[in-house]
Amino acid sequence: MSETHRSDAVTDRPDEVTDPLLWKLALEVADAHEPDGQGGCQNLLCAGEPWPCTAWNNAQRALRAAQGDVADDTPAPVTPNFPAGWSAAPIVPATRRTAA
Ligand SMILES: [Zn+2]
Repeated sequence: MSETHRSDAVTDRPDEVTDPLLWKLALEVADAHEPDGQGGCQNLLCAGEPWPCTAWNNAQRALRAAQGDVADDTPAPVTPNFPAGWSAAPIVPATRRTAA
């Protein structure tokens, strides 16, 4: 990929963008899914969907990801949710349990 300037619409790319291709694609999606001024999305694919629509939200997430910010995408750590009063029995693999 050459670093020469193209006569592209997307030239005001922030310096922190680490994934230019993702950034460009996400911008195009966001541009295509602007609010229609009536609480909905102007894109025909999102007819009836309130804005911000799913595609726009995904585009925003992609824009952040293209800037190296993935903190928002990190799933919360899964913590065991034992009911109160649950006896702390040792966890034994099923294979060991059945082999008596
Ligand atoms: Zn949309």
